[in-house]
Amino acid sequence: MSDSLLIEDISYLVLADSDQTVLENAWVWIENGFIKDLGSGEVPEDAGDAPKLSGQGKIATPGLVNTHHHFYQNMARAYTPGNNLPLLPWLERMNKLWKRFREDDLQVCTQLGIAELMMSGATTIADHHYVFTEGSTDMTLHQFKAASKMGVRLHASRGSMNQKSDLISDWALQDEDTILADTESLIQTQHDNSPGSYRQVIVAPCAATSCTKSLLEASAALAKKFRVGLHTHCGETVAENDFSIEHFKARPLAYLLDCGWDYDKAWLAHGIHFNDEELSLLSHYGIGVAHCPNANMRLGSGICRVPELIESDVKVGIGVDGSASNDSGHILGELRQALYLARVKYGAESMSALDAIELGAWRAARMMGRDDIGELAVGKCGDLALFPINDLYANAAENPVDALLICHPRQVSDLVVGGSIRIKDGAFTHLDIVELMSEHRQRAERVRSSAF
Ligand SMILES: [Zn+2]
Repeated sequence: MSDSLLIEDISYLVLADSDQTVLENAWVWIENGFIKDLGSGEVPEDAGDAPKLSGQGKIATPGLVNTHHHFYQNMARAYTPGNNLPLLPWLERMNKLWKRFREDDLQVCTQLGIAELMMSGATTIADHHYVFTEGSTDMTLHQFKAASKMGVRLHASRGSMNQKSDLISDWALQDEDTILADTESLIQTQHDNSPGSYRQVIVAPCAATSCTKSLLEASAALAKKFRVGLHTHCGETVAENDFSIEHFKARPLAYLLDCGWDYDKAWLAHGIHFNDEELSLLSHYGIGVAHCPNANMRLGSGICRVPELIESDVKVGIGVDGSASNDSGHILGELRQALYLARVKYGAESMSALDAIELGAWRAARMMGRDDIGELAVGKCGDLALFPINDLYANAAENPVDALLICHPRQVSDLVVGGSIRIKDGAFTHLDIVELMSEHRQRAERVRSSAF
């Protein structure tokens, strides 16, 4: 597949730069996977030989970046026993499903989840997988295989659980040595930190409630040793605060800091219930927050203080999360929810459509330690999402760019990753989506039928 491309006649080009520039009648020239030049008006003559894609009647944004997800859960979405529960009882129900879940199931879940996210504009995705069932092997390698087939950039957060509790069965736990050895081996064999990287490894214990202190400490030390990302859930519910104070004699963030999580490549999923002092600590240590508005609303967990995080110079990016607490992986829809949830708490002037796009663009990229994606500029990766202006749900919108968020979320017409066209005219260029959906349904049925 070619990695050079000229996207011409783009009606609106959202650069997602610090000035929130939007160019009209624009073009982007990609060579060898990276942006060689871009602008509005006339295309440079020497770009004439590159393969072309028309941007007429389209709004182009940087390929969107998702900082938190759980692909495996897309086999349990809208699962009746968990549909009306808060986090902990919901988790208890979910955890009964996965005893027979294996690496080939995860590969299919990963492909399907990536397909959903691509169709809604994503080109870089962090998935957090922490259920390593007894008898399974190479879970993370199967995720990388899926991402490579789909052609997106995957940050695989190698999750872990090693703490016995009422919520988790023994077959879902691994011992600390196994977890650390596998994670280190993945870093050494898979992690690529070069510009334009398609695969990165994140050290990612599931949560302080499902991991021992020793594992949390060793995970932070491992991430720091190799300068890779560090990730977990934190600050999601009031019940988590209470549990932490009762069992660890500290609030969740203080406990993590005590475990050595004072690290500028760490980011925490949810971060709803942080107080002012904790916002200062996050800013001081450079720790980020993955904001997951749909899951937070679905589970009734609360509202993340996104405008205040930004004001306090805390890194924050969008997390689509789920897929059984969302229960869909639509990243543009997630940005719309972030926009509206912020307005519920802080008023209609607190966030604009372009501010919301930033959460899925440079802000998300920066939080994941990447300066080569999330913005359209010379030298950045040639990753773009193109959305049709003339969509039924946005028809006749006076401001097509604002309409991208303010009107009902739509799908992309085209998606480009590293200069390669992965979706064209609303269809995957390299994937039989009907066949994938059918296989996914069959496997999901088997997984649900083995619940106990
Ligand atoms: Zn999560």
